[in-house]
Amino acid sequence: MGRVLILGAGGVGRVVAHKCAQHPDVFANIMLASRTKSKCDEIRREIKERAGIEIETAEVDADKTGEMVALIRRFKPDLVVNVALPYQDLTVMDACLEAGVNYMDTANYEPKDVAHFEYSWQWAYQERFREKGLMAVLGCGFDPGVSNIFCAYAQKHLLDEINYIDILDCNAGSHGHAFATNFNPEINIREVTQEVRHWENGKWISTPVILDQKSVHFTFDYPVAGPKESYLLYHEELESLAKNIKGLKRIRFWMTFSDNYLTHLRVLQNVGMTRIDEVDYEGKKVVPIKFLKALLPDPATLGTNYTGKTVIGNVMRGKKDGKERSVYIYNVCDHADAYREIGAQAVSYTTGVPAMICAMLMLRGVWKGAGVFNTEQLDPDPFMEELNRCGLPWKQVEFEGRLPE
Ligand code: NDP
Repeated sequence: MGRVLILGAGGVGRVVAHKCAQHPDVFANIMLASRTKSKCDEIRREIKERAGIEIETAEVDADKTGEMVALIRRFKPDLVVNVALPYQDLTVMDACLEAGVNYMDTANYEPKDVAHFEYSWQWAYQERFREKGLMAVLGCGFDPGVSNIFCAYAQKHLLDEINYIDILDCNAGSHGHAFATNFNPEINIREVTQEVRHWENGKWISTPVILDQKSVHFTFDYPVAGPKESYLLYHEELESLAKNIKGLKRIRFWMTFSDNYLTHLRVLQNVGMTRIDEVDYEGKKVVPIKFLKALLPDPATLGTNYTGKTVIGNVMRGKKDGKERSVYIYNVCDHADAYREIGAQAVSYTTGVPAMICAMLMLRGVWKGAGVFNTEQLDPDPFMEELNRCGLPWKQVEFEGRLPE
């Protein structure tokens, strides 16, 4: 039994709060805090209706370490689940250190003024968390998060060494809008328009961005969803997995994009609407991507008419008992089912459920340690069991398809 402080009341925060409330034996007291308190209160009302559980809510600006420390000292959580934005990771980690509480998040730190994310900033907290006997778990959504845990599971049970990893992320859903992003538009667009890299034989290889005519893509035949065009993309788990998986020769990340999405994004980029710097507009400073976010549908509201499924998983090739073996572990999540259960679409659901499972394992003391951890460094078995129990069942098959060499 423990106390959890969930930070951020967006699409993902809603799922984490609902799923924690479904497990009152683990999460005895829940607080949902965010910049806009009314969003927390709306989720509080839904949880009372659906689960009959009372949660607390609060307003906090997590960019301000002092405000976070005061809130932590008032509520006294055992764990802070940071599902606000990547910009807040460091101020929240600082607050956790100062107030003496464990930490977890679903996305690595990114400075507001540069569209670049990497773990170095958060890995630099290793000694401070270790010295205080506190645990910080980084990147425990689906990808990163479950994608890392699938690797740890394969490394523990299925392959003596993993040589090749391909993470394949498919959203075969339809939300009915001309253009929308499935999680925070600003973070999403910054992610998909940045330099594409994958890791091969100890080196990072750059390839053209997804909007370039020369981008690297191929058709992958996804279970349930069928053949979909999948684009090479840089994703943050590549950095930690390249470091932590023994015997690795190559790791890549692929994501599906429809022609419609790419066309809209290309136009927005060409006219400057994805710029992250300030421009002068009638005497006011405006950041175009922030203005664009205000115009686009709120990802948390996309669930209403969302149909179709997400299919996310890893193909992992290596050696078992001296022989080549290729395994594919994946999850299929249905947008409409997620909406029926807790009023969320599948992208928020597949992120929020793993975050809740991580919180559950930390509160139960199943995942414990002092320092900063990526999820592949922790025991995958209890996590894989909870995925099946908590709404994200996975399948494992021998992989017989083809991937680009
Ligand atoms: P949303 O934009 O829907 O929600 C973000 C929430 O954080 C909002 O409630 C926002 O408040 C709040 N927030 C923003 N700034 C602050 C601040 N300074 N202080 C307090 N609260 C703040 O995002 P999502 O829910 O879609 O995504 C949440 C996180 O999950 C992101 O970091 C995203 O990158 C990550 N993610 C991870 C995935 C994975 O698989 N690992 C997949 C998808 C997302 P307000 O309402 O006032 O704006």
